[in-house]
Amino acid sequence: MKSCPLCASPLTTVEIGGRERVACPRCDFVHWDNPKPVTATLVPLDSGLVLVKRKFEPFVDWWCLPGGFMEHSEDPEESAIREVLEETGLSIEIDRLLGAHSPGRGINVVILFYLARSASGRLVPGDDASEVRAFRRHELPDNVAFELHRQMIEKWFEGNGSFVGTLPDVT
Ligand SMILES: [Zn+2]
Repeated sequence: MKSCPLCASPLTTVEIGGRERVACPRCDFVHWDNPKPVTATLVPLDSGLVLVKRKFEPFVDWWCLPGGFMEHSEDPEESAIREVLEETGLSIEIDRLLGAHSPGRGINVVILFYLARSASGRLVPGDDASEVRAFRRHELPDNVAFELHRQMIEKWFEGNGSFVGTLPDVT
């Protein structure tokens, strides 16, 4: 962002609240650059977890948990349910929120990890997935994208299908 979206003045960097912010010197605009919430859902199926193969950057052809960006005014659970349906063809019920984590490394999102209680329907890859399937622990692919996804998947299998403990700090 180079110019102010309100008055079109060139933006500068100022310190507000102990952090460097991009702000407008002429009006009150501050580019707060807050993280965007995304969901990622663990969907147990056939003694495994459902993963989707990514069709788009980043990590094309890598596998990950179904999920994505929340829409405007959407409830987080609704968002998780919608993303799973869009990407996998499955209708789920949410069991619970497992945790909310920031990946760090400059990736400006907060990932809400949900666990699905039940899943029904037929696996059909959505628009942004080239493949979708359930993996048992010994079948897990080597190319699972995103460190936090890998950790959540590992935790779930470690607990034999339940979820135990919290994640280590990965930042
Ligand atoms: Zn301005």
